[in-house]
Amino acid sequence: MLSLQSDGPLAQGAPARTTIAGAESNVAVGLARLGHRVAWAGRLGADEPARLVLRTLRGEGVDVRHVTTDPEAPTGAMIRERLAGDVARVHYWRAGSAASRQRPEDLDAALAAGARLLHVTGITCALGPGPGAAVTTAVEYARAHGWTVVLDVNHRARLWNEETAAAALRPLRGNIDVLIASDDELGLMARERGGEAAQVADLLDSGVRDVVVKRGGDGADLYSADGGHVHQPAHRVPVADTVGAGDAFCAGYLSGILDALAPADRLRRACATGAIAVSTRGDWEGLPHRDELGILDVSPGSALR
Ligand code: ATP
Repeated sequence: MLSLQSDGPLAQGAPARTTIAGAESNVAVGLARLGHRVAWAGRLGADEPARLVLRTLRGEGVDVRHVTTDPEAPTGAMIRERLAGDVARVHYWRAGSAASRQRPEDLDAALAAGARLLHVTGITCALGPGPGAAVTTAVEYARAHGWTVVLDVNHRARLWNEETAAAALRPLRGNIDVLIASDDELGLMARERGGEAAQVADLLDSGVRDVVVKRGGDGADLYSADGGHVHQPAHRVPVADTVGAGDAFCAGYLSGILDALAPADRLRRACATGAIAVSTRGDWEGLPHRDELGILDVSPGSALR
């Protein structure tokens, strides 16, 4: 979607930067920068914001040949007002957007092209019945064809309440290999009302292979179906902008899967990309290229080789 990022209150006429936003496109850019082949299959309007989205993604090396153009609806848009430090106020124009009119058949060509991994988020499901059906179709197709299916819950309370989200997302459980969630999102996917351990056990029982729990500045945990558990503390970094940390983390984790890294190593890579994202401005602009993955190990003031 189009994103305007204002440096101050909108009502005061603060100057704004024009860029793009979106959880799935952030993850796609993160994967492309890490050297993976990646395609993004969204639905855009026939308008200038769509040109910006396409130009940006192409420039980042993301394959956009399977994007659907909707001549009758605008590309979604948002404004983020930076009010004080890291505090922001966000306004969305999603209702009636091209993305809210996505249909399962929009994804036919993208699915037929094949892949090793499918990444979807709960945000798409929240946009309406068409996008929700598109996600279900993609997940079922990917599962049936042996791809690794990854769902990042990404609950957005402004789009739907927890009850509606749970009713829409839980039916996907049987087809998900990797579930990525914040600690407070596990309850949306688990049928178990108990604490985190019971929720994780329930999710692993449902067939999820990796339950990955994001904990902001406290790092992340990975619980695996084989009984394995890894905790990775967060890197200590100066916080510039926390938006996009989850998507950066997700890109790092998926990259680890595609590179066949061991569980602890893929969680370490995810926490590194998440920390790099919070220490840089912008939702996706600071995402690391592969040769920058070690940037957090470089002492401040010295050069990255
Ligand atoms: P968002 O929705 O804002 O993108 P999220 O809630 O999905 O974020 P977080 O748990 O905030 O995701 O962050 C994802 C990961 O990024 C964390 O698990 C952690 O590894 C890393 N991270 C987040 N905040 C920090 C921080 N302050 N310092 C270092 N690493 C962080």
